[in-house]
Amino acid sequence: MKTVNSTEGATNLSFESSLTLNDVVTENEKVREGEYEPPDCAARQSVAILIPFRNRERHLVYFLHHLHPFLQRQQLHYAIYVINQAGNVTFNRAKLLNIGYLEALKDYSWDCFILHDVDLIPENDHNLYVCEDQPKHLMVARNSTRYKLMSPSYFGGVTALTREQFFQVNGFSNSYWGWGSEDDDLRIRVRQHKMTIVRPPEDVARYTMVFHKRDKGNEVNKDRKTLKGQTPQNWRNDGLTSCSYRTLSLDRLPLYVNITVDVGKP
Ligand code: UDP
Ligand code: MN
Repeated sequence: MKTVNSTEGATNLSFESSLTLNDVVTENEKVREGEYEPPDCAARQSVAILIPFRNRERHLVYFLHHLHPFLQRQQLHYAIYVINQAGNVTFNRAKLLNIGYLEALKDYSWDCFILHDVDLIPENDHNLYVCEDQPKHLMVARNSTRYKLMSPSYFGGVTALTREQFFQVNGFSNSYWGWGSEDDDLRIRVRQHKMTIVRPPEDVARYTMVFHKRDKGNEVNKDRKTLKGQTPQNWRNDGLTSCSYRTLSLDRLPLYVNITVDVGKP
């Protein structure tokens, strides 16, 4: 029998359109309400995986199908949180991640937070989903950019910050509505706090992005450059400390905690 507690390195990913959420539940009997703890060792870090979400059900099925076994092979204590934006107003990825951090900490004092796009699937389980003494950028190479890092300053897609690192920078800005630059804003916050960004080697930190078009309601944010210019002045007043929202429902589903929130409007 295949043991769950050993990593495999590079894996071949499959994306079967017939796969259902119920299939994935059946595959993952050891996961309880999105959470897993290794049965025969004490994990070094407890990790919350936060996913900003709206209308990407198919991607979420693929994500859960790949990520649960992946995280278990790494012998982590982890839980997956999906933060689902209610309504049709412009998407706000960064604010959803702030909300995920605040809500997940009501459950448990997680050591490490992985901020994770739903459509990115890691190809190699030597890419460890743990935090370092500096913020970590996990998505170095992806199929959609020919497995090249787009820019040395890129800090998007999948990142890992400790509870303390994320707290120190006051989380993300809540002010980025629509697509773009909220990840640059986080990088500016990190740099401003004299932290550096670390990355695993590019042959390990590889991802497949499930193909998609730009979503309706997530159009390019025209204000993004202006906002970014103001980060050094604004970070203190715009972030975790000013994140107001309304939780509409919190459901502990078998494979993830679903938190549906009203994030307000631009
Ligand atoms: N996202 C979502 N619904 C939307 C828009 C975005 O769930 O309508 C989430 C999802 O996790 C996605 C992430 O936000 O992976 C980043 O958006 P997108 O994939 O469009 O960014 P890009 O592919 O350009 O990096
Ligand atoms: Mn994407």
